[in-house]
Amino acid sequence: MTTPSSQADHGSIRLHVSAPLGAGASVLLEERQARYLGTVMRRSAGDRLRLFNGQDGEWRAVIRDMGKRGVRLEAETQIRPQIAEPDLWLLLSIIKRDALEWAVEKATELGVAEIHPVVTARSQPARPNPERLAAIAVEAAEQCERLSIPRIHAAQPLENLLRGWPEGRPLVAAIERDGAATAPPPLVSGALLVGPEGGFDPRELDVLRRLPFLVAASLGARILRAETAAIVGLALLQRPSEFLNNDA
Ligand code: SAH
Repeated sequence: MTTPSSQADHGSIRLHVSAPLGAGASVLLEERQARYLGTVMRRSAGDRLRLFNGQDGEWRAVIRDMGKRGVRLEAETQIRPQIAEPDLWLLLSIIKRDALEWAVEKATELGVAEIHPVVTARSQPARPNPERLAAIAVEAAEQCERLSIPRIHAAQPLENLLRGWPEGRPLVAAIERDGAATAPPPLVSGALLVGPEGGFDPRELDVLRRLPFLVAASLGARILRAETAAIVGLALLQRPSEFLNNDA
């Protein structure tokens, strides 16, 4: 075999599937992906692509059949083993649909493990559709080369999520205009909480500040839109800790 890692060998198309992957595993694509592969990308039998399922790493696969009964692929060789990914959650107060969808796409690119849309006092009233958000996350994961897709939860009140908060998981809350807040600490496991367009209300802030696992974080002097705050916060949480160490 020549250059096994080049995209030319493996195909530039990368799809998330739910089937188990292993040498010789047969995978039937779901309709959306079959249409994408045949109609949009004009691929045909014999062409190669890459597959991942969040468990078995990334595999090179070949298109075996492309017919009326669907598109069948066969996994050939593993290109990358499954590796541990950041264990970061995003808790985002429900904002306008376009902004929320944008945040889900970008947060997926930034590697989040779970996205929890939460209801807070000033959230938008409409509830997001978790299936639609999941489809956005799958497409973003396919494109950005991560090996898993984030879990998208149904919306729930922030207080319910906080009531059952897992022990030992730090929660970094982005709170603007808080003189005491410092930059988000680097974390490999934890969560980021971002408020809605109108921010958290004063009573919510009182409750938040009393939580023992909560760290208030500032994202700088300017007031960011919620979706910007989510992305900036996730990036800062993931900076290597040596960035903090000036004389490293
Ligand atoms: N309308 C509010 C701002 C809300 S910004 C006001 O003008 O007071 C939306 C959310 O983004 C906030 O709830 C907070 O979680 C986050 N955010 C925005 N800018 C921030 C900053 N500079 N520091 C920390 N969090 C910020």
